[in-house]
Parts: sequence; C-alpha cells; structure tokens
Amino acid sequence: LTGESEGLSASEKDAEKALRPLSFSDFTGQEKIVENIKVYVQAAKQRGEALDHVLLHGPPGLGKTTLSHIIANELQTSIKITSGPVLDKPSDLAGLLTNLEANDVLFIDEIHRLNPIVEEYLYSAMEDFRIDIMLDSGPNARSIQIGLSPFTLIGATTRAGLLTSPLRARFGINARLEYYDANLLTSIVKRSSAILQTPIADDAAFELARRSRGTPRIANTLLRRTRDFAQIKGDGTIAMHIAKMALNALDVDENGLDEMDNRILLTIIEKFKGGPVGISTIASAVAEEAETIEEVYEPFLIQEGYLKRTSRGREATEKAYKHLKIAIPGGRGA
Ligand code: ATP
Repeated sequence: LTGESEGLSASEKDAEKALRPLSFSDFTGQEKIVENIKVYVQAAKQRGEALDHVLLHGPPGLGKTTLSHIIANELQTSIKITSGPVLDKPSDLAGLLTNLEANDVLFIDEIHRLNPIVEEYLYSAMEDFRIDIMLDSGPNARSIQIGLSPFTLIGATTRAGLLTSPLRARFGINARLEYYDANLLTSIVKRSSAILQTPIADDAAFELARRSRGTPRIANTLLRRTRDFAQIKGDGTIAMHIAKMALNALDVDENGLDEMDNRILLTIIEKFKGGPVGISTIASAVAEEAETIEEVYEPFLIQEGYLKRTSRGREATEKAYKHLKIAIPGGRGA
C-alpha cells in the first residue's frame, strides 16, 4: 500500500492504467497547479513552441506521471518515458534526445537519481537544445555537437531537496503536488468505481477515500481490493460494511494509517522513548529502507501531525500517543 506501482502484476498495471485520467478535465484536485499549467500549455501551443521544462515534485502516487501524460496529450505531442536510475550513460540520454520530434515531452521519473555525468549533458540539452558528444578517447578524442528538436523535459521527483541547483534552475515551471483531501478522493473513488463497473455506496466511497493517506493511487488500490471483497463476500456492490471489512483485512486503521505507519510510531515511542531519534535508527528498527521512510511514510505522518521533525531527529507527537492509546510520559493523559 506504499503507493509504489513497481510491484504490481501485469493485470493490476492494466487496471491502474484504465483508471488514469487522460485530460485536464478528468484530473481531480491540484487545482492551482492544473489551472496554471493549462495556461502555459495553451500559450506554448499557440506560439508553436515547446512548453518550458516542468519539475513536478511531491510524495509518490499523487499524479506526477498522470499529469505528465495529460500535458503531452493536451500539447498533442508524444511522450517518451524514462527514469533517472535507468539513464546510466550519456549515450542512453543522447539516444532518447535525438529521437524526439519537435515539441515532444521527455519524462524523467526519479530525476534526483540521475548519474552526475548524464546530468551534465542534460544541461545544454535543456538550455540550448544541443548536446556535445565525445567521440573516441585519448589522442583521437573529439567532440561533436548535435542539434536537438525543441522539447519539454518533465522531471518528477519525490525528493526535490536532493536536486542539484544547476538542474533545478533549468526548470521554468515548478509545481509541488499536495496530498488530496477526503472529498477530492471520494470523487476519484467514484470515478474509478464507475470505470470498473462496480456500484459503490456514497458512505463507502467516502470511507475508502478518507483512509487512503491522501493519495489517489492508494485510493484506487483500496478500491480494487474492496471490489474483490464485494464480489466474494457480498453481492458485488461496495456497501459500507464491505468497505470496512476490506480495510480491516488490509490493516488500514480507523485514521487511515497502515501497518508500517503504526509500526514506525510505535517503534519511536516504545524503543526510543518518543524520540528524538535519527531516521536511519528508525529504519533499521522497523526493517525498512531509510529512503522509503523519508519519501513515503514520513511526509504523511508529519502532515497529519503524528510525527515532528526536529534538528535532533524525529519525535512522536501527543496525537501519536493518543492514536496508539499509550499514556504520554509526564502524564498529560492519553
Ligand atoms: P510515482 O511517483 O509513484 O510514480 P505519481 O505521482 O507519478 O507516482 P501517478 O502514477 O500519476 O502518480 O498516479 C497514480 C494513480 O493514481 C494513477 O494510476 C491514477 O489513476 C491515479 N491518480 C493520480 N492522480 C489523480 C487525479 N488527480 N485524479 C484521478 N486519478 C488520479
């Protein structure tokens, strides 16, 4: 339930694709970002130019990839998709760039994980639409310049803070996606259940929405699992009791925290006296990668007020004690 799509089977990926909005009008929420991007897209299209480069950041599953596809659709151009860790050598990048047609979109996911050498090449590609390629090495080494078609780079990252400043400076459009509130997620759940042809009661849709960690991908995943329960344990319709049964089976608690969220909070409280404690110490105690905790779990726990980030490490808040029904040290009563 972490909001990552890599672990999905082929049929689950197809299902996820079917639920992906294709136009701005299908895309719910992130209103300000969408309104602005609509203007930039329309203006670029009118001028017959490539849209300026776009940096999308925010926690996983909030719609960075979806929005990039929509931008390309609305620009009526093609989109080529890759990711930071995949672009191993400058030639990988050169291959992609030289194949772009005028005003196409190149989407680089996890752009904070680019190899620094590849990143250097990207600078001139972004700025001047050209790349200098080294041919041969040693005494025969020479560089040739290749002109590129104007293109739009869309970079997506869960960790904007890890981007180098020269790279960050080359994006003319910069947008931070926020967690969705329960009402927006309710519309997403309803839209998705209509696509999946599964009837859902209003209160059940809201229940799934409010327990989805503010994340559309999680809302859709919970919906697909709940649909299974409705089919096997009910009459195919998602009623409130079916939604609750599924959420229970999936270890999503009343406040929408999943098993790992709770494990992190409990560890900080029980093993480290509520903190402050460093992220790598927490990570080894809960047997999860520090990076995943920082990218996936922590932002939501902080936003919801269960966790505090201080200069000395992470601290569990009063709300965390109350949530786990543990008495607050000092006796302010949980
Ligand atoms: P990651 O960085 O993990 O790839 P992401 O931010 O790129 O995540 P997406 O893959 O775009 O997230 O979105 C995940 C799923 O959530 C999509 O399949 C899409 O169906 C759904 N989704 C995301 N945003 C919206 C939205 N605003 N309205 C409706 N559905 C959405």
